[in-house]
Amino acid sequence: MFDASDATSTADALTLAATAQPRHDWRLDEIEALFALSFNDLLFHAQRVHRAHFDPNAVQVSTLLSIKTGACPEDCKYCPQSGHYSTGLGKEKLLEIEKVVEQAEAAKAAGASRFCMGAAWKSPREKDLEAVLEMVRRVKALGLETCMTLGMVDNGQAGRLAEAGLDYYNHNLDTSPEYYGEIITTRTYADRLETLGHVREAGMKVCSGGILGMGEAPRDRAALLQQLVRLEPHPESVPINMLVKVPGTPLEHVEDLDPIEFIRAIAVARILMPKSHVRLSAGREQMNESTQALAFLAGANSIFYGERLLTTANPQAQLDRALFAKLGLHPERRDTCVDDTQVQARVQTRVEAEIEADLARRASRQAAARASELAYDASSASVD
Ligand code: SF4
Repeated sequence: MFDASDATSTADALTLAATAQPRHDWRLDEIEALFALSFNDLLFHAQRVHRAHFDPNAVQVSTLLSIKTGACPEDCKYCPQSGHYSTGLGKEKLLEIEKVVEQAEAAKAAGASRFCMGAAWKSPREKDLEAVLEMVRRVKALGLETCMTLGMVDNGQAGRLAEAGLDYYNHNLDTSPEYYGEIITTRTYADRLETLGHVREAGMKVCSGGILGMGEAPRDRAALLQQLVRLEPHPESVPINMLVKVPGTPLEHVEDLDPIEFIRAIAVARILMPKSHVRLSAGREQMNESTQALAFLAGANSIFYGERLLTTANPQAQLDRALFAKLGLHPERRDTCVDDTQVQARVQTRVEAEIEADLARRASRQAAARASELAYDASSASVD
């Protein structure tokens, strides 16, 4: 691992962490110095930066739906949807618009403020794009923020998506430029950056992050974050994924990443991109509650909520509600759309009421247990 004394002292790293202002010129050695801070120092600074820009107990909640699954021509080594690997995943055509709207309504009822739709394509074909644009319009009309991930898009496609009302476009950088060739060979890093450029030019918000635990070196994690901070402005949403090892993919047997290293990456992302939502994304199913709690402490403030994350499992909504209650977290309120404030407030109120009810049940169980302990102590004393 990088030794902070090599290039930048720990004191320097602490000063850097304390600046808390968005910068695009972070050097690799500065980022590595943040990674090399003591865990407690790193989390303290990440939390401080987080509190300067966000409600520390609010977590943005999104739901993700796969609108076209499997048979993707790309060869991303982590992905069960790639047509290059035999993962037993069925191939599905583009979902019907009505089904997508139904799912979006259910997501909204469950408390999601953003609905993300993903299609396993190299890039959208013209005949599919029309249907996709209609999905955006219909989901947007429900009062949800919309996000799509459809592979590479050119200028014209990005413009049409923006016109239809798409708020966010997701396109991950995945890993460092140096390690990228080990993971994907069918599209280049430059292709990815180009798509992100088109998304920005069209006026949409950018959702872009990466996947950790793919066998990359610590330096690759720092270099991935460096690429993200070079984007001007920073991506509004930065998903940090932990690899989900799917049987049949080339990364099925890759060595596990230490969860502490994963938390470090979240904390460094928070410091580097102080105003972005950092999303604790794929891989949450494999994380225990303590790891997730540390991720929130490190500055993660967005999650996917629901049963499935494209094609891999995601903790059930009920477990998420219980975790929110335990940690005193609440879903972030949407403030980007004034038209549906009342509807959103009703959903918000219902989710908060469920969390409060969970808390009340927990408190009442504790009170009952305490009362029975006291009764037992009193009866023992009278026997004595
Ligand atoms: S990650 Fe996306 S582009 Fe890569 S194989 Fe999977 S669906 Fe295709």
